[in-house]
Amino acid sequence: FSEYDGKTVFITGAASGIGYAQAEAFLKQGASVFGVDQNETGLQVLKQAYPETFAFWCANVAEKSEVAEAVHQALREYVRIDILVNTAGILDDYKTTLDTTEELWDDVFNTNVKGIYHVTNYILPHMLKWEQGVIVNTASIAGLVAGGGGAAYTASKHAIVGYTKQLAYDFSRKGIRVNAIAPGAIRTPMNAKDFVNGGEMASWVAEETPAGRWAEPEEVANLTLYLASSAAGYIHGAVIPVDGGWTVK
Ligand code: NAD
Repeated sequence: FSEYDGKTVFITGAASGIGYAQAEAFLKQGASVFGVDQNETGLQVLKQAYPETFAFWCANVAEKSEVAEAVHQALREYVRIDILVNTAGILDDYKTTLDTTEELWDDVFNTNVKGIYHVTNYILPHMLKWEQGVIVNTASIAGLVAGGGGAAYTASKHAIVGYTKQLAYDFSRKGIRVNAIAPGAIRTPMNAKDFVNGGEMASWVAEETPAGRWAEPEEVANLTLYLASSAAGYIHGAVIPVDGGWTVK
């Protein structure tokens, strides 16, 4: 994938887990990465490791003005943004609809869905100017089947799948390629709770997964690199699981 030399990538959720691994994967391939997250600590770690090619801005993707400022900063850094990876997201602790407060519902939708909408709407116009761009949205197996989250999370991830398809429908002819990835059980801080108290929950998840194990975030980053590359040039509006076979059931 040496084609990433000189390419610029805008990644949300880059401070932790999957987003961090995606940022690092692009950086290792020679790309310049602009990371956005609410959490500065993880961004600082990347900055120390890749001082020349990594830049960042702290922002809440759910807040339009903060996204506007983050994109403004990125475009001061680079002439153009070639690749957008929307990964920032939060979980809902597997709550059923009856246990989902309106506040939790709004938090999950504002981050997982409205966040992607804000970031895309600020970056897409710049991609359209060059008639070239790739967008990879991080959905989930919860965007394909039930049980990967609670009511709000599953609904939000299905919304990301729909949004991805509509973007592909509307912009493929204009040079923009949009796809989503659907990770299964990935070992990140988001799932840290599953590994406490003897890791009973984590063991159950591994047993239920045909591959028999959790994945590392780098395994999701590998698919992201592929989808963003020209090798994936005819893949438009797809939602590709990286789930160890979870969704075959
Ligand atoms: P994580 O908690 O390790 O990382 C998420 C990052 O997003 C954090 O750095 C967090 O600060 C950031 N973030 C959250 N809300 C934000 C906001 N409003 N504005 C800016 N940044 C914000 O979790 P992860 O497991 O790496 O998850 C990344 C994405 O992958 C999420 O969208 C998640 O739903 C999805 N996903 C994860 C798994 C999994 O098993 N870990 C499975 C399927 C999908």
